[in-house]
Amino acid sequence: MTAASIQGQDFHAIDPPGFFLKDKIAEGTKLIDENIDVLIVGSGPIGATYARKLVESGRKVWMLEVGAQEHRTPGEHKKNAIVFQKDVNSFVNVIKGDLNLLSVPTSKVTSNTLNPVSYSNAAYIQNGQNPNQAPHVNLDNAAATRTVGGMAAHWTCATPRPHPKLELPDTYDSKRWDQLFSAAERLIGTSSDEFEDSIRQQLVKRTLQEAYADDDREFKALPLACKRSEQNKSFVKWSSTATVLGQELIDILKQEPSRAKKFELLDEHLCEKILPVNDDPKQVWGVKAQDLRTGTDKLIKAKQVVICAGAVLTPQILFNSGLDESLPALGKWLTEQTMTFCQIVLKKSLIEKVDKDPYHLGWKKIVEAHRKQFKADPLPFPFDDPDPQITTPVSDKYPWHTQIHRDAFSYGLVPPAFDQRVIVDLRWFGLVKPVESNCVTFEHKIKDMYGMPQPTFNYELSDEDAEQANEMMNDMTTVASKLGGYLPGAEPVFLPPGAALHICGTTRVGTSKTDSVVDENCKVWDFNNLYLGGCNVIPTRIACNPTLTAICYALVGAEAIDKALG
Ligand SMILES: Cc1cc2nc3c(=O)[nH]c(=O)nc-3n(C[C@H](O)[C@H](O)[C@H](O)COP(=O)(O)OP(=O)(O)OC[C@H]3O[C@@H](n4cnc5c(N)ncnc54)[C@H](O)[C@@H]3O)c2cc1C
Repeated sequence: MTAASIQGQDFHAIDPPGFFLKDKIAEGTKLIDENIDVLIVGSGPIGATYARKLVESGRKVWMLEVGAQEHRTPGEHKKNAIVFQKDVNSFVNVIKGDLNLLSVPTSKVTSNTLNPVSYSNAAYIQNGQNPNQAPHVNLDNAAATRTVGGMAAHWTCATPRPHPKLELPDTYDSKRWDQLFSAAERLIGTSSDEFEDSIRQQLVKRTLQEAYADDDREFKALPLACKRSEQNKSFVKWSSTATVLGQELIDILKQEPSRAKKFELLDEHLCEKILPVNDDPKQVWGVKAQDLRTGTDKLIKAKQVVICAGAVLTPQILFNSGLDESLPALGKWLTEQTMTFCQIVLKKSLIEKVDKDPYHLGWKKIVEAHRKQFKADPLPFPFDDPDPQITTPVSDKYPWHTQIHRDAFSYGLVPPAFDQRVIVDLRWFGLVKPVESNCVTFEHKIKDMYGMPQPTFNYELSDEDAEQANEMMNDMTTVASKLGGYLPGAEPVFLPPGAALHICGTTRVGTSKTDSVVDENCKVWDFNNLYLGGCNVIPTRIACNPTLTAICYALVGAEAIDKALG
């Protein structure tokens, strides 16, 4: 029995409810008044940041999540299963399964070659299909992940700090940012050391450092939120929502439901809308949610509400709550990075160098031991030699984020006949300036598969950003050429818009309601007790992976909520 089902009472038994709800209240609706201090919508790493901080300061927190708890540890990273560490390639299919496309144009073009006797229609509307989506302004690969842990159940864990001039918002002063980033890195467990003992890490890094020695370009370990096991050096524990929650909160979740319980997670619960207090539109009473397993509606009361439902589904809840008119910047100023990608097969000359231990790193002994044990293996790298994880950071001369590594995404599957130890992926992420017209809007008449308003994108690159994307592509191919030749089928491409999965800005932080949705504490304009979290609050262009920055904002939001609760 879930906590909610024992605590739910027949709605009609409670009088008066004190909130404003336009819809008719369905029979069997439960009213939940459990003296909840903070109700958090979304169990991704940002919802978890709020939860961790607020439970630690003694608050009673409930979390709602539309997805299911799939792992015995809530929010665990799926790549922490040994099977994926043995073969990271197979994780591609897990990520693919995790990504629900947000807006799929249903233009007739896709069915041009259909036998004319077959039924065909350009107005399908199931599972993100959207006849109102113009294909040329879509974010084709924009997706949501609905599971306990959110996208951090499969993410790559890259957690670099943004460039102070080119990417970092001026929301706080540099000292404050520095404190926030240090706290965020501790919370998510960022490290630059976990791959440094790898032969391929050093080979790729030093090759590039030598190639760019005259250019003063930095090549270094990609900061990653993970920890290599002390007992088993070939196992890496990737950070996730479970890491952010921490053992104490996870232990609380395992306790039997009770009124005294400080933290509760209701999975497969859809938050439909926020409910303002009767006669006081500045005050939120709580939320209307649906238990998807039973179909029961629940009206859940809380002193403070935080929505961290991802960069598109957060504004979706606000839109569904009728706030689009009072929040003119909702869904606007959307940014999503441009992305180029290729995979190379390492040069023969580089692989042959390994036996000679050119950098005096003790490779000879390692290679000899490997060759002795696996006589048939043509490569010098031990099978458990960690994959390379390198970056050359955003700089004035090269204003894009880079990942030179081997990892699984929803694309870039290495053909089964190739040994993955000779493959290196290059992913370049471009800066895109926020503009008001780049936005996500929501349909009144078309619903997504959860009955929520269907998102529609309107996204175009400026000429300046397009030029920079072109330069970024040229740079990626130059760097690639230092390392090897292209893997057939993985030659340089621009990935479809949305592929970065780093949408920002849709509920951005700012100084006024006209061009932002939240204030510097992540509190929604005009509300006393409604806060937001996620990359959606980041107001500036950002090329690096944005989750670490979003954690910083959530730390500020949690502090403000704690203060407001007194
Ligand atoms: C393949 C991949 C690689 C990535 N790599 C990186 C990386 O290396 N570095 C990086 O910084 N970022 C990366 N990301 C992005 C990163 O995972 C996200 O930025 C991060 O998870 C955002 O956290 P969040 O908590 O704001 O949202 P999410 O993680 O999206 O979580 C939001 C949660 O809210 C739930 N929800 C939505 N609507 C509702 C509703 N109405 N009611 C109840 N619940 C709802 C969703 O089901 C979801 O679980 C990657 C993502 C993917 C998929």
